[in-house]
Amino acid sequence: MEIKATTRLTGVFGYPVRHSLSPIFQNAAFQYLGLDMVYVALEVKPEDLEVAVKALKVFDFVGVNVTIPHKKAVVSLVDELDGEAQESGVVNTICCRGGRLKGYSTDGQGFIRSLKEEGRFSPENKSALVLGAGGSAHAVCGALVRSGIGHLFLCNRTREKAVALADHLKKNLSFTSTEVIEFSQRHRKAVWKDVDLLVNTTSVGMKENDPLLVREENLHPGLFVYDLIYNRLTELLRNARKLKLPHLNGLAMLVYQGGISFELWTGRKAPLAIMKKALAKYRGGLGKA
Ligand code: NAP
Repeated sequence: MEIKATTRLTGVFGYPVRHSLSPIFQNAAFQYLGLDMVYVALEVKPEDLEVAVKALKVFDFVGVNVTIPHKKAVVSLVDELDGEAQESGVVNTICCRGGRLKGYSTDGQGFIRSLKEEGRFSPENKSALVLGAGGSAHAVCGALVRSGIGHLFLCNRTREKAVALADHLKKNLSFTSTEVIEFSQRHRKAVWKDVDLLVNTTSVGMKENDPLLVREENLHPGLFVYDLIYNRLTELLRNARKLKLPHLNGLAMLVYQGGISFELWTGRKAPLAIMKKALAKYRGGLGKA
């Protein structure tokens, strides 16, 4: 990739951000399509976020991704919000056009597109059990509802957050087919019999000695297992793989949400195969079944 005086800037704001995989596949996509653009990781401390966002206009950025811990704080710093960003209250992509900054949330769409295209799972009229009720759970549940999910079981260590998520879906998307499961009751067989899709949106599994989230005996034939974690093969995915259940890890969602950001910035179709290939070369695959 040749960096010239004309090269336009994109990147990711995060803190910390040096572990980010996005530069690998975004730059591969720019290069493949011959776009005069570059993607860099920008470590932005929370106290510097406002000035960093203002600098996007100064330096004529095409746009940026926004990751932990800035996804909520950046909402009030952009000029306008896309519908999904407004509904979810988080922004993970900013586009700079005509001197204005528009915030988008592409996590939910990235999740659903990867589930349908990579996982070949259609959520319509199915039941899903979502573990966790944080930022990614909001994006995942919103996307599942928009894609016609029939029923959602919500289970979180802090019960009130699962209740708040159910209330959010009712208020914002008029979706009422939800059931909150006590975290301590999650191993009960009765909980699992009607579940078609399991999504782990908690951070449990990121570290080797994390507690067991789901017992192997609850992973029944036909269950689709999606773990948003992408830094390692979790116990949950190891068991799904052993039982030959269809499954995906978080790298799939990462690439697809990055593909949507790419399309917002460039107006071109994201070369997903190239992006996946770049990531696989760097990391060793998407962990598909
Ligand atoms: P978050 O808003 O901080 O939510 C964290 C969730 O994990 C909460 O529901 C929390 O429960 C739960 N949790 C944390 N420690 C726990 C424990 N020891 N036992 C049980 N539950 C626990 O984080 P997030 O933004 O949703 O991200 C969560 C995970 O998704 C991270 O691993 C992140 O890397 C991954 N993620 C992946 C992608 C992707 O593209 N693949 C995108 C976004 C996020 P409490 O409410 O009880 O604290």
